[in-house]
Order: sequence, then C-alpha cells, then structure tokens
Amino acid sequence: MTHSNSWWIVTDLDGTLLDHSYSWEPARTTLRWLQEQQIPVIPCTSKTAEEVRGFRDAAGLRDPFIVENGGAIHGEDARGEEWEEALGIHHSHLRPQLDALETLLGERLMPLEELSESEGQRLLGLGGEALAQAQRRCWSVPFVPPSAEGRERLPALAASLGLGVVQGNRMGHLLGPDVSKGGALSRLKQRLGGPQPRVLGLGDSPNDIPLLEAADVAVVVPGPNGPHPAFRRALEQKRYLLAPAAHGEGWARVIRDLIG
Ligand SMILES: [Mg+2]
Repeated sequence: MTHSNSWWIVTDLDGTLLDHSYSWEPARTTLRWLQEQQIPVIPCTSKTAEEVRGFRDAAGLRDPFIVENGGAIHGEDARGEEWEEALGIHHSHLRPQLDALETLLGERLMPLEELSESEGQRLLGLGGEALAQAQRRCWSVPFVPPSAEGRERLPALAASLGLGVVQGNRMGHLLGPDVSKGGALSRLKQRLGGPQPRVLGLGDSPNDIPLLEAADVAVVVPGPNGPHPAFRRALEQKRYLLAPAAHGEGWARVIRDLIG
C-alpha cells in the first residue's frame, strides 16, 4: 500500500459481495485480479472477526478488515501477526442495553445470539459452526428487527441510552456511540498512514451509508429486485453509482468499469 493515490476497495460483504446464500463466486476472478494489481480489498461488514477470517482465507486476502459495523478494525503487522483495535463498547456492556432498549420500545428485540438452530436457518440461512461464529459478538448486539414503525423509533431511543442502532440487510445492530463503518474507515486510514488512498466503497443497506459517505466513489449494489429503497434519493441525485447487476456480479462489473 505504498502507491500514491492508489485505490482501496472497501466493501460490505452480506448482500453486497455475497448473495443471500453467501456465494461470491461471480466475483472470484475480479478478486484475484485485484490482488495481482496489489489493490487492497478491505471487508467492512457487520460480521464478526471470526467470520471474516474464514472469508479472507477462502478469497486469499491479506488486507485489513473492519468488523461488527465499525466496532473494531483488524490487520496484519510486518510479521503477519494479526492486530485488533477496538472502537466500540464491549458486548458484555452492550448486551444488557438491548433489554433497556426493548423496554423503551415496548416490542420484542430478539438478539441474534439467542436464535435457535432452526431460527438461524430461517432468518439467516446459517446453522452449526457458521451460526455460532455469527453469534459470538465482541462489539455489537445484532437483533431481529421489530415492526416498521418500531424501526423508525429505534435510533432516537438508542440515542437516549447514549448508543447507536443501524439497520443491515437482515438484522438491526446495537452499537457503541459514534461507531460506524465510516468512522472505522477513517481510523484505519489514520492508523496505516501513508498517502491518502482513493476509496471505492460498496454497500447494499442503510448501515453502509457512513461507509458510502466516507468513500471517494460510492457504489450501491442492488439485489435481484433492485437497490434498497433507502438509496433512492442519493441514486437519483447521482451521489452514489448503481452497480449494473446484483451482488458479486454487479460488484465485479462496477470495479472493472471504474478501475480495470
Ligand atoms: Mg449488507
């Protein structure tokens, strides 16, 4: 990462690079090409570090990564040892706050970590060790979203507890104050130092907005039924680009168009 004004690909995983069955096959060739070009691919996700390590190994990535919606950043030092820098509140302190939030809301907020095997399969398409890795949180408390009306009230209620809530593509996420994907990206740039990269940010859901706002070029990746409605205005105003196809295929095509 020594080239001046070199690109960083900073990408959400679920629903963006990965489809709803967690496949990223259509992007495999482009991921390999990015590595050959020494263009970092930095996952920026709601997933836990354990889950991202599995993805990085499968994709052959060695670049830093941002986990739990900006709750921590990770990377490797010169000897290949992994480091972690926490930016949020630890799960052991956040978890009781979900109960407080539930009381304020007056609606059930079922934490991801309490989903049974069959609920994990139904709501996330995850079971066994994959579900367990998603359930072992350090810096966030994901929960099954409440009613549409409840979702609208949550951010202000969380703020009254000094915390944040964001909506991902399947789960809501309770976070420490000022924790966001964009904040974590700023911290990562600061920590790594060197020339400022040009950041190409890619996301699919409202929790990606801080990442897209922090990026130099922001891309919304649609699902098979089009982009998330939260992006309608920004897309109309051409503040964000729309990838030309869903998930990994759109991800790969937009990167080839912009960089290749
Ligand atoms: Mg997503």
